[in-house]
Amino acid sequence: MKTANKTVSAERLVKDALEKAKFFADYHIFTYLNEEGALKKAREIDAKIKKGEKVGRLAGVPYVLKDNFLSPEGETTASAHILQGFNSPVTATAVKKLEDEGAIMIGRTNMDAFAHGSSTENSYFGPTSNACDKERVAGGSSGGSAVAVALDIVEFATGTDTGGSIRQPASFNGVYGFKPTFGTISRYGVVAMASSTDCIGFFTKTPEDMDLLMSIASGQDPKDLTTLPDYYNNAGEPAQVPLGHAVAPARRHGGRAASTSVVTCGDPQVNLRSARIGIIKDFDNESVDPEIRQALKKKCDELKKNGHEIVELSMPNLKYALAAYYIIVPAEIASNLSRYDGVRYGFRSENSKDLEALYANTRDEGFMPENKRRIMIGNFVLSSGFYDAYFLKAAKARTLIIEEYKKAFSKCDFILTPVSPNLAFKLGEKVNDPVSMYLEDVMSVPLNLAGIPGLTIPVGKSKEGLAIGLQLIGPRRSDKSLIEFAKELA
Ligand code: GLN
Repeated sequence: MKTANKTVSAERLVKDALEKAKFFADYHIFTYLNEEGALKKAREIDAKIKKGEKVGRLAGVPYVLKDNFLSPEGETTASAHILQGFNSPVTATAVKKLEDEGAIMIGRTNMDAFAHGSSTENSYFGPTSNACDKERVAGGSSGGSAVAVALDIVEFATGTDTGGSIRQPASFNGVYGFKPTFGTISRYGVVAMASSTDCIGFFTKTPEDMDLLMSIASGQDPKDLTTLPDYYNNAGEPAQVPLGHAVAPARRHGGRAASTSVVTCGDPQVNLRSARIGIIKDFDNESVDPEIRQALKKKCDELKKNGHEIVELSMPNLKYALAAYYIIVPAEIASNLSRYDGVRYGFRSENSKDLEALYANTRDEGFMPENKRRIMIGNFVLSSGFYDAYFLKAAKARTLIIEEYKKAFSKCDFILTPVSPNLAFKLGEKVNDPVSMYLEDVMSVPLNLAGIPGLTIPVGKSKEGLAIGLQLIGPRRSDKSLIEFAKELA
């Protein structure tokens, strides 16, 4: 990471990043550019450097913030109309930790509204273009963040991953994207999508930068009680850790909580020079783009040559993950989005005849169609007549998936899979077909249901010049070894 010092000023770094951001304006990466605020901070850091005062590990490093991270700099809108005009009084813990080390936010990035989507086309501001081909989608929901790093506007960006929103756009644009173990980075101050699967993570150009950012941003936070001890600390943790699911249904069903289960801890002693890498046989089929399959095969051959062992896994229960995800996640979305009523945050529909109409009109005008679809699905699967058939069934499937990973990690140290079945698709291709959009997530959502970490590794380009990424998956709390292993692969 290029930090400011006596010869390269923070002001120079920030000015360069802002210039590049403007140069790439037609990609629609930003919802807000923080010119004044960023330059002011840069000058403060330069003054400290001049005086010989201590500066942080990210001194003067420009970065971009996905638009669902709360901070007083710029409106936090989650790229949704209903949050237009919302100036946050608080700062997300992750943002605070980065800024305490001297990082400087130069802009907020475009995303699918409330992070619902896989292409950044569900944004109120319109779509972001792919870094390799302007006619294609950036991936999503953290599309703007991924493209900002891929086009080298900044060296890192924040993202959130509830079902693939960091890993898939990282793969579509050719950068690293990491979704840590659930609870590794505090979710305090990040607009909630689905509280039992939301994870904070980053986009970078190298695994070394990812390592640095994880060491800064991770750790327990009294403001988020699901946070874990820091990212290095897996050696000291008990071997089995319950996945705590604090979810909406408990409220509606007399305290009946979702199932809790466990995934075995990552083995901190894993030998990174001769690791056992699992390949999921069930994923090697016609529905996966042949160039992605080829890239996976090539990587496996390379791994074998370098002294690693390839282990074939059969994980039939993963086929339930997508269906379970699209029941559990909308259920939590319906609950989390119930707070947007036109009274407390951002946009309010005017001219409503009474309070009831004000709520209804604000929500009708303020949410995107995909947000509304999920609110309706969520309320349906939680309604008393359908809870057992849908939500409870999905919670049981989730436990099966957790157990399936546990079994797999008794046979291997890491698993390598595609991130998604397709390369970046054309803008507009899937936007009117929600089910085909949901199918994009078939390989990314199982990790979120199990709470385990996954890292997108860029592995090259397709014949058409599109980025190809693979996903390296580890057991719960193996985050540090996973990133160390990625360094070996780079
Ligand atoms: N594409 C997935 C969805 O639409 C994941 C989104 C996310 O991770 N925020 O739900």
